[in-house]
Amino acid sequence: MVWNILPGFGSPTHACALHDQMSVAADMSVGRARSDEVKKQPPDCRWEPRNGGTGSMSKQTGKVQPHGRYRALTARHLDRIAEYGNVRGEDLFAMRVVSKVLPFRTNRYVLEELIDWDRIPDDPVYQLVFPQKGMLADEDFHRIAGLMAREAPAQEIDGAVAKIRARLNPHPAAQRELNIPGGADGALEGIQHKYRETVLFFPSKGQTCHAYCTFCFRWAQFVGDKEMKIASNDALSLHQYLASHRHVSDLLVTGGDPMVMKTRVLARYLRPLVDNPKLDHVRNIRIGTKALTFWPHRFVHDKDADDLLRLLEDIVRSGRHVAIMAHFNHWQEMRTDVVREAIRRIRDTGAIIRSQAPLLNHVNNDPNVWARMWSTQVGLGIVPYYMFVERDTGAKCYFEVPLVRCHDVFRQAVQQVSGLGRTVRGPSMSATPGKVEVLGVQRLAGEKVFMLRFLQGRDPDWVGRPFFAKFDAQATWLDELEPAFGENAFFFEDRPAPVLQAV
Ligand code: SF4
Repeated sequence: MVWNILPGFGSPTHACALHDQMSVAADMSVGRARSDEVKKQPPDCRWEPRNGGTGSMSKQTGKVQPHGRYRALTARHLDRIAEYGNVRGEDLFAMRVVSKVLPFRTNRYVLEELIDWDRIPDDPVYQLVFPQKGMLADEDFHRIAGLMAREAPAQEIDGAVAKIRARLNPHPAAQRELNIPGGADGALEGIQHKYRETVLFFPSKGQTCHAYCTFCFRWAQFVGDKEMKIASNDALSLHQYLASHRHVSDLLVTGGDPMVMKTRVLARYLRPLVDNPKLDHVRNIRIGTKALTFWPHRFVHDKDADDLLRLLEDIVRSGRHVAIMAHFNHWQEMRTDVVREAIRRIRDTGAIIRSQAPLLNHVNNDPNVWARMWSTQVGLGIVPYYMFVERDTGAKCYFEVPLVRCHDVFRQAVQQVSGLGRTVRGPSMSATPGKVEVLGVQRLAGEKVFMLRFLQGRDPDWVGRPFFAKFDAQATWLDELEPAFGENAFFFEDRPAPVLQAV
């Protein structure tokens, strides 16, 4: 199939029903970048960096085209999307079933620019966004499929869905029990404080994403259940909490995706960090986002894109380190002209882009994919930061990869890149006691063991500490490992997690 979707949303073989439904502007042609070379695209923008920037500022040629206003496509649109992508029969029914339990959302940019529909179901971005049958345990799948097939009342389906979700470990690593600080008036919702120097903030309006990843470890934020959600719109409480914790150097604004918020809303949380001397100790501002993959227009064409860049630049100019914690799973996400333009514009603000992603079966379980991704990132000025192990939540059964394989992929990939790409750490598990990196497999004192170490720990004293676990070829997570050398427990298990007393 040749892809040349001009000017709207439709394939060479399908009518453009969804296009009408979405009522998008006519001028939406977007070329597909088919080369991994960095293409310099003169910006089509008003914002100009105060430092002159690193890219061409000519407005004469090669405009990156806008893609219309952002519109979410959800499970309600599955039929039309399926028609567009030629997904039929059992596959479409499976999508409907799985999307009852796990959240589904996409948008036109993802459909038109990122997915190679000739390669479905194997296309990595398709796997990343579209529900597949194996994402639920057989028993759960058939339970929901049966209810849907006999058109059971919504209440009955909702009840079954709630039970399945509760079994999918909606808040991994004991986030709700151990990470949420308490104040005089009770828990400070929307804040997590797991590691001494870093506070996470979950702004209410940022608890959605431009599209949802099928493997999402924050899926519970998106299923419309208030009990499951961690969020706050209370900027004052955040700033008071930060002001009273002088050892906090880093604020991570996270979600969902904070970049779904209007710039003026994001600024309510971030501007006081520049203006308020009581927050001087907060030196590093991180923003977790997958907007560069799912909606790079956020930084280029959205109405307040220029304001967003100005906000980032102002924070940088205040002397803070601003890190965009970008989430890329595959080099295929970095091929379009608009994502490259977005990356250039962010870098021109002085912000640093770091990239992180889990290793996922069906998406990037291949060292060559990682090597190419990291090389592409280095070429674009992005710093490879983390390779994660798929977390023990949601559709883990579909995506998980044994730890030993994770380490093999990491090692084979990192061998293929230069030192600039070896900034990456991994494979790492964000587990209850902390971030644990798999360093390798060795035979020590006659025993085959995993070598591990803490990159972060609930107790700062754990950081950098190596430890050993019995080798287990099937293990996919920390809690499946046993201590090596006949020990009864790992050193971090014999005392209670310090939780928040330490902070
Ligand atoms: S971008 Fe992050 S929070 Fe959003 S769906 Fe993907 S993994 Fe989840």
